[in-house]
Amino acid sequence: MLQVVPVSEALEHLRGMLSRGVKSGRASTMSALGLVLSADIVAGEDLPPFARSTVDGYAVRAADTFGASESMPAILDVSGDVAMGSLPGAPLSGGCAMRIPTGGALPEGADAAVMLEYCEEPGDGTVAVGGAVGPGENVIRRGEDVATGDVLLKDGHRLRPQDLGALEGLGIISVPIYEKPRVAVISTGDEVVRASECPGPGRIRDMNGPAIRASLERDGLVPEYLGVVPDERGRIEDAIGSALQFDAVLVSGGSSAGPRDMVALVFDSFGRQGVVVHGLALRPGKPTIMAVIDGKLAVGLPGHPSSALVAYETAVRPLLRHIAGEIVPAGIPVRARCSRNISSRPGREEFVRCSLRRDGGEMWADPILGKSGLISTMIRARAFIHLPLDSGGVGKGSLVDVYLFD
Ligand code: AMP
Ligand code: MG
Repeated sequence: MLQVVPVSEALEHLRGMLSRGVKSGRASTMSALGLVLSADIVAGEDLPPFARSTVDGYAVRAADTFGASESMPAILDVSGDVAMGSLPGAPLSGGCAMRIPTGGALPEGADAAVMLEYCEEPGDGTVAVGGAVGPGENVIRRGEDVATGDVLLKDGHRLRPQDLGALEGLGIISVPIYEKPRVAVISTGDEVVRASECPGPGRIRDMNGPAIRASLERDGLVPEYLGVVPDERGRIEDAIGSALQFDAVLVSGGSSAGPRDMVALVFDSFGRQGVVVHGLALRPGKPTIMAVIDGKLAVGLPGHPSSALVAYETAVRPLLRHIAGEIVPAGIPVRARCSRNISSRPGREEFVRCSLRRDGGEMWADPILGKSGLISTMIRARAFIHLPLDSGGVGKGSLVDVYLFD
């Protein structure tokens, strides 16, 4: 009998037992997309490094334009041009304006820019400014984007394209990162053979190994696929023993509590700790084992392909992200209307595979019903409808939380 535990409880418990980040190192910023920072990044300079105009027009002292309007323009002397890519040679004196392009450096003494559209040069060396601007208007101040000493990005943050742009913008061309954890993948089952083999009578090809391996790759981990092992205790022990050279181990099949299910026993036979959770209040995915062996995460996933993938997405991925060093932000569901009744039993979380469509200005989730032993339901699905622990089901047309695949 499995002692089921809610996924959130299992995650909290295991996070407390597993250290965050395997090993820190450095990476060039250019190649750091998807890597996790191992320290805060503090800006060593101001961005932008000088005050810049955000419009094509004239750099001015805002006070010189006060009260100006189309019928009563302020007349200012044009004292020169700001050239792009260099600092103005002279400061701006009172009663003067300088022509400035978008992105040009504001001369000393100027505190605003007026858009070209509001200005007219009659040809006598002056400009008629037909509208007032306030101090700071149409200008990005020095350090307004990022100021020296600001924490730009935090330890545990997974780098995205915009982050890399900002880092390079500040001249930070290499970053402290956690190395990607290496995660072993093992498939078990007397009936399971590698895809390259021809399955004999009563046998099937390994589907979990390749799917889990690919999930790891997608999630920024380094998968180590160790192949298929029969349901023999010694063979499983050997495979897990050699997998423990890596940072975590994921085994599929044999994770329940039957006489041929040996993964939990084997996890318990190694090193310190052993099985922490055997059974999740989750459907599909209930017969999942979460163990810690000498500080490393070891997971037994169910054999049914959809169950294995749901358990991976909901219970394993968050822990792998923790091991990868990430401080995991909560997943954000989208809301959709469920196109049919789904029954559920309070006491377990359910993830119902679904497709999505827009109809009448609304998002609709169409549940894909099918046994968890089928992988084709996962292929047709684009997301999961989430029914929380206390849900007794949902009626057709009700709003549900939907989690998109990646
Ligand atoms: P088990 O969890 O070992 O009892 O397996 C449950 C079901 O999943 C059985 O029908 C297995 O044949 C199937 N199964 C187990 N491992 C795999 C695998 N790697 N790929 C595809 N199906 C599997
Ligand atoms: Mg099996």
